[in-house]
Amino acid sequence: MDKICIKGLEVFGKHGVLPEENALGQKFVISATLFCDTRRAGRSDRLEDSVNYAQVSELLKAETESHVFRLLEALAWHLAKEVLLHFQLVQGVTLQIEKPWAPVHLPLDTVSVQIHREWHQAFLGVGSNLGDREGQIRAAIDFLGEDDLTRVVKVSSLIETKPVGDVEQGDFLNGAIEIATLRSPEELLELTQGIEGKLKRERKIHWGPRTIDLDILLYGREVVRSESLCIPHIEMERRMFVLEPLCEIAPYAVHPLSGKRVRELRQALLDGQGNV
Ligand code: ATP
Ligand code: CA
Ligand code: CA
Repeated sequence: MDKICIKGLEVFGKHGVLPEENALGQKFVISATLFCDTRRAGRSDRLEDSVNYAQVSELLKAETESHVFRLLEALAWHLAKEVLLHFQLVQGVTLQIEKPWAPVHLPLDTVSVQIHREWHQAFLGVGSNLGDREGQIRAAIDFLGEDDLTRVVKVSSLIETKPVGDVEQGDFLNGAIEIATLRSPEELLELTQGIEGKLKRERKIHWGPRTIDLDILLYGREVVRSESLCIPHIEMERRMFVLEPLCEIAPYAVHPLSGKRVRELRQALLDGQGNV
């Protein structure tokens, strides 16, 4: 992807863990690489079609001056987030902050922190079979949109499905949601579980009735296998109530382990069911 680079922007700030640093302040040197598609601007030669690096520089300066963080890590994340939230064209940012006057008392040029943050496309499955099913699903979608690190991009139609498993319970309403998020997979799980909590989800019986269930189906092409998180969702290719709505909004999204597109997974499941 194309890059727009800001190198060596000098700003005076009061960040640091020592009280003297917070009182006296010191020089911070910021460099930012903005990842964005410049084709449109390249053809039109119009500033409105690109990312205005003067405005980005102003934002970096203003945010560095108006906050006080203890750690460069916290300042870097704050600046990266502000750039990604304010400039729609910026897909990702690499940010480096140097502290040339860091009070280390050893002969060194500078200390610095560098981070990279970017928007990630993810797909969620949503389901409800208790209470006001549609109202709760809409509320969950609203909560997702209210998160400052997440945007709701697309929502599928909601479909009526029969419960799977042996538990006697009401029919489900299921859907799929595309989001863009600055959250990591684990941070996204925190968000979805927080939303389940707000909507009074209780975990009484596994696969039992629930006011809301929000599952992370896909997160870009990443594969996550930890104790608390499996992405892609481990059951997705076996569940028509997942693949049907997902296929409506993302037929060409790829399952990173099988390499198959969602529409192929759906077709395979349909064919399999047909053979039973
Ligand atoms: P299923 O996971 O089969 O759809 P469920 O949705 O009823 O069942 P929950 O009780 O909602 O199961 O979740 C159980 C645990 O699954 C959660 O505590 C969470 O840590 C874990 N989990 C693992 N991978 C995912 C994922 N991709 N999305 C959401 N939760 C996940
Ligand atoms: Ca589930
Ligand atoms: Ca779940």
